[in-house]
Amino acid sequence: MTQTIESPPVPLKVNTLDNVGKNYKNLSNEDIVELCLNGSISMKDLDSLIHNPLQVVEVRRELLRTQCRSENISTSFYESLPYKDFDFSHVVGTCCENAIGYLTVPLGIAGPLIVDQKLTFLPIATTEGALVASISRGSKVINESGGVETFLMADSMTRAPCVKFPTLARAIDAKGWIESPEGKSAIAKEFSTISRFASFTDIRAFPVGELLYLRLSATTGDAMGMNMISLAAGKMLSVMKNAGFDDMITVTLSGNVCSDKKASAINWIEGRGKSVAAQARIPKDLVEKMLKTTPQALIELNTSKNLIGSAVSGAIGGFNAHASNIVSAIFLATGQDIAQNVESSSCITTMSLVENDLQISVTMPSIEVGTVGGGTNLQTQGSLLDLLDVRGPNPENPGQNAQKLAKIVAAAVLAGELSLCSALAAGDLVRSHLDLNRRK
Ligand code: ADP
Repeated sequence: MTQTIESPPVPLKVNTLDNVGKNYKNLSNEDIVELCLNGSISMKDLDSLIHNPLQVVEVRRELLRTQCRSENISTSFYESLPYKDFDFSHVVGTCCENAIGYLTVPLGIAGPLIVDQKLTFLPIATTEGALVASISRGSKVINESGGVETFLMADSMTRAPCVKFPTLARAIDAKGWIESPEGKSAIAKEFSTISRFASFTDIRAFPVGELLYLRLSATTGDAMGMNMISLAAGKMLSVMKNAGFDDMITVTLSGNVCSDKKASAINWIEGRGKSVAAQARIPKDLVEKMLKTTPQALIELNTSKNLIGSAVSGAIGGFNAHASNIVSAIFLATGQDIAQNVESSSCITTMSLVENDLQISVTMPSIEVGTVGGGTNLQTQGSLLDLLDVRGPNPENPGQNAQKLAKIVAAAVLAGELSLCSALAAGDLVRSHLDLNRRK
């Protein structure tokens, strides 16, 4: 057999882990990008390899630009998306993976609004023109009337694992035990091992065939609470196994009866996070002078639109004009989980006549907010929590900062509802009411 003598391999021009070594500190951004492109490093590992968060962002931007160019995709983000003057150390491992910059959203100040006798400046992050102006108009009328009074009706975050038993009978046994005083106290005991801020409030079990959905509720201090309650739900399942339910299989830690980031009747009826209500009474002459409408026209508008119209549409919690506008804008500004806007915006707006004045209320059973953890740790969002005097943990009464934030959200929604409904009522409806009033 003849042996062919191969020429020695041509040295690769590209960097590899072997020829650059593993000391990433001495590598230029271009070297690291090249290592990513040739597959030696994956984009998701950059944070753990390079311990300078800003440099990681620069590398990712370069890498993305190179990849976009080769795919003929626009690279305008490279010039437009800012990244300097931002502390990415608060982002890595908590807020966002593969960061390449930060988004700029206009931030307006609405109000101030007197909430529970305190003047409150409302941070509104929005791209919807007229929203800030509308909330401010509502605030002005409410302030002239003495302000908004708010009420916290309940506070508990929920998580509902789905477990499976061999039979429906066993699922019913488990429901009986976990909802009994014995079962509840065994679960409550486990909470002390999770966090000093987590405290058991209730457990409800919903069997479906051999499946069982366990809706666990707890207070979580000033944290919005998803991490805490998920940890608690895991512990609850271990307690159940040890209590004689070792034939139970965990299908999923979250079985959608929670119900997180989805419209659901259970949150609307039972509440999730903070259940809050707010009310203001607007004298008749202020409604007419400042809102250019009448209490009767507003009440009729509210009934036709927010109650009957929403009922016709089959709404769940959508008995309002634009609660979601205000909830989303304050959530964005204060570092909340914006996806929870779905259930946090559930709101029924009610209006009634009290001695010729307008009494307006909003009832919001599932406002999910926190003042510690997640996006609240970011500098700008934190500074806006400062503006509301709710930043971080409440040292005397853990939970009070998050509760106050939920009350402010509801109060701001009230101002928004009053303003938009007035604008809508000040059409034909108000003209006909004024005509009627003048005839008296
Ligand atoms: P979440 O459960 O909302 O996802 P995190 O678990 O991210 O929140 O953040 C809560 C963390 O903050 C926990 O580690 C908790 O021990 C800590 N913490 C400090 N003070 C408080 C407080 N007043 N209320 C709730 N958590 C607090």
